[in-house]
Amino acid sequence: MEMRDSSAPEKAELIQQESQKFYKKYCDEYYKNVHLIQRLLTAVTDNKRIEDELKGISETLEDSNSKRKRRRRPANEISRHHKCPAIHCGKAYGSEGSLSQHVRLKHRSLYEEYSKGTLEKDQKMTKKEDLS
Ligand SMILES: [Zn+2]
Repeated sequence: MEMRDSSAPEKAELIQQESQKFYKKYCDEYYKNVHLIQRLLTAVTDNKRIEDELKGISETLEDSNSKRKRRRRPANEISRHHKCPAIHCGKAYGSEGSLSQHVRLKHRSLYEEYSKGTLEKDQKMTKKEDLS
């Protein structure tokens, strides 16, 4: 028992040194961990910000795409004043160009008459202009 007692203070000192070393290491690791958590949070925040930016960019792209698509009017909104002159056809178009294309493709003989008619009309108009 006496031998143990004499070495006890030395042992106690060693234990204290070891525990101090351990505590120092523990503190180092703890602060490293805190630092890592902060970096992780910064990375997560950056990631979120970039995600939001990308979302904004893709929304702008979608907007411009749908605007481009909307330029063409839907079929039911076009007022069809240009009716096909062919009997029993019943087709009507929003522009004279569309109608003449239809007539040219579907009623070839009528198209030739039709274009002749407009040609004559044009000639009459030029004559009128010449007179005045
Ligand atoms: Zn027709």
